[in-house]
Amino acid sequence: MEFAIDPPIPSTLAVRDSAQRFPVRRIYCVGRNYAAHAREMGHDPQREPPFFFSKPADAIVESGTAIPFPVATQDLHHEVELVVALGRGGADITVAAALSHVWGYGVGLDLTRRDLQAVAKKLGRPWDLAKGFDHSAPCSALAPASVIGHPQHGTIALTINGETRQHGDLGDQIWGVAETIAILSTLVTLEPGDLIFTGTPDGVGAIHPGDHLVGTIDGVGSLDVTIGTATAA
Ligand code: MN
Repeated sequence: MEFAIDPPIPSTLAVRDSAQRFPVRRIYCVGRNYAAHAREMGHDPQREPPFFFSKPADAIVESGTAIPFPVATQDLHHEVELVVALGRGGADITVAAALSHVWGYGVGLDLTRRDLQAVAKKLGRPWDLAKGFDHSAPCSALAPASVIGHPQHGTIALTINGETRQHGDLGDQIWGVAETIAILSTLVTLEPGDLIFTGTPDGVGAIHPGDHLVGTIDGVGSLDVTIGTATAA
């Protein structure tokens, strides 16, 4: 095939303890999936079924890199999240079968331009550019489920410059990984290579230029990212 322009380079992630790479197809994200975070954002966690948004695949940033402070925001927020990497796709996947579609897990950051999101919420506009901007999806190397199993409990935490900012437990997710896959697969056909960022515990807050962020999930791995200075648009 001859392309009219150079085709984009596919997004990939490292695989823990391996030279293999995991190809990223789409990035789905779950909103408000921990009760305490739903409350801190002003919502009643008992009433809401899960909802989803997405980020472009090339928003992926690998652990260990420095990323520029994003343009067009004065309020960049961190959300540390368990990332699910699918090895098998499907539609209308049952809860019972859902975990068999999971290839592995990682530690991700759902970086959010909270000020743009607040405007979007107020005006009933899409969240896309509050959530799906350049470098908005840092993610650790993926750990295969064949090695680590399917973590359903354990600490999920984020430090900034060594100070703990978020500290929760995977067991506090409102919708677990299997339920999330099942519900999402009623809305879209999932495919191998899809990632799902499964929501953040409470404690979200602002990031500043020069900050060093370290996200960890027990049994899954760790992610570290440094935020650079602001750049012009
Ligand atoms: Mn999030």
